[in-house]
Amino acid sequence: MQYTLKSSFPLNGVGLHTGQSVTATFLPAEPDTGIRFRRVDLPESPEIAARVRHVVRADRGTSVAVGDVHVHTIEHLMAALFSMGVDNCVVELTAEEAPLLDGSSKVFVEAIRAAGIKAQHQAASKTFTIREPVHLVDGSRMLIALPSADFHVSETVSFPDPAVGTQHAAFRVTPEEFSAEIAPARTFGFVSEADELRNKGMIKGASLENAVVFENGKLISGPLRFSDEPVRHKILDLLGDLALLGRPIRGRIVAFRSGHAFNVRFVRMLVDRYLKTPEGIEESAGPSTADFPLDISAIQQVLPHRYPFLLVDRILGMSETTAVGLKNVTGNESFFQGHFPDRPVMPGVLIVEAIAQVGAILLLTRLNKKGKIVYFLGLDKVKWRKPVVPGDQVILECTAVNIGGRIGAMEGKAFVEGALVAEGLFKYAVSD
Ligand SMILES: [Zn+2]
Repeated sequence: MQYTLKSSFPLNGVGLHTGQSVTATFLPAEPDTGIRFRRVDLPESPEIAARVRHVVRADRGTSVAVGDVHVHTIEHLMAALFSMGVDNCVVELTAEEAPLLDGSSKVFVEAIRAAGIKAQHQAASKTFTIREPVHLVDGSRMLIALPSADFHVSETVSFPDPAVGTQHAAFRVTPEEFSAEIAPARTFGFVSEADELRNKGMIKGASLENAVVFENGKLISGPLRFSDEPVRHKILDLLGDLALLGRPIRGRIVAFRSGHAFNVRFVRMLVDRYLKTPEGIEESAGPSTADFPLDISAIQQVLPHRYPFLLVDRILGMSETTAVGLKNVTGNESFFQGHFPDRPVMPGVLIVEAIAQVGAILLLTRLNKKGKIVYFLGLDKVKWRKPVVPGDQVILECTAVNIGGRIGAMEGKAFVEGALVAEGLFKYAVSD
């Protein structure tokens, strides 16, 4: 399912770098529109899709352009739409830079909340699911994407000025968490670099009202909104750049000293690696590797289970330690005949068994032990959170806590439409 705004709203402000007055009007948009900018101050109101392929600059802000038509400093606005779950929106601008407002995403978020968000039921979500570890390193900068059940971002920053120093923060990014913990964090800078930026014609719209400013170990602007406001703002900026992927992310992003140019390189890498066909066209809903998905006959070469006890239809992807599988639960499942004829519900223990089968496929493939048998020695922390009924597509995820030995443990989870339906800790032994 995709989401758009329920109603439109305008926001007025000045641009951070140009200092120009601008009105940004946020409009609901059709499914699959994505986020698009429309320059209504130019003849024929040209549009630019907010996608990484259109990024032309990423120093001190992220800019997109098509031909001579530019939109600068889009990241705080993008972070707000992306993190609040707005997939489709047209943003009309009366100048070439997004409004800075208070230097954070707070005002955008409040306006999005006031306008409301509307589900577009007919349109399938295009979530980008991280299925294997991906990383980019450049000196002391690093970005890593890891498989995870939900969207999670952590960041570590390190600045020579002792007023900031080294800071670390981590959040599960939901609209609630973003609104409360990330969106209010303002852009920040150091007096020592202000002159150089001004000489380059930048930060004309910056002031002590819309930025946190430090000088020689001291805060010289008003009070901080969070004691670690700078690292939170770095997460906000990173979210704004990850939004250029053009789809929601399911995975864990771990960042060290991220910045716009580096973030954009990382997003480009994800697009090039996972969202392009050999012809270079962006497509597909998420990463897969050459060997995946594994279909039912490939699964049967690894697992000894057969109908009616083979409960995995497909393996979507596998990293060194995580496997993600899929089970389409149809009305014809044998267990629905007795559980229960009038109100069919998939037995919870069979959901656990399905997770375990994905775990067994991971172990047997990674340990190169096809044809062996995985025995489960114990189950811990098992919880069932929602019933699974005919028509559900269950995503099964199993992560090995320690892999390689004959005995070990795995964390397993099952999801339906992104919601956790069951989880548990599985202890196992592999037969020799
Ligand atoms: Zn920023």
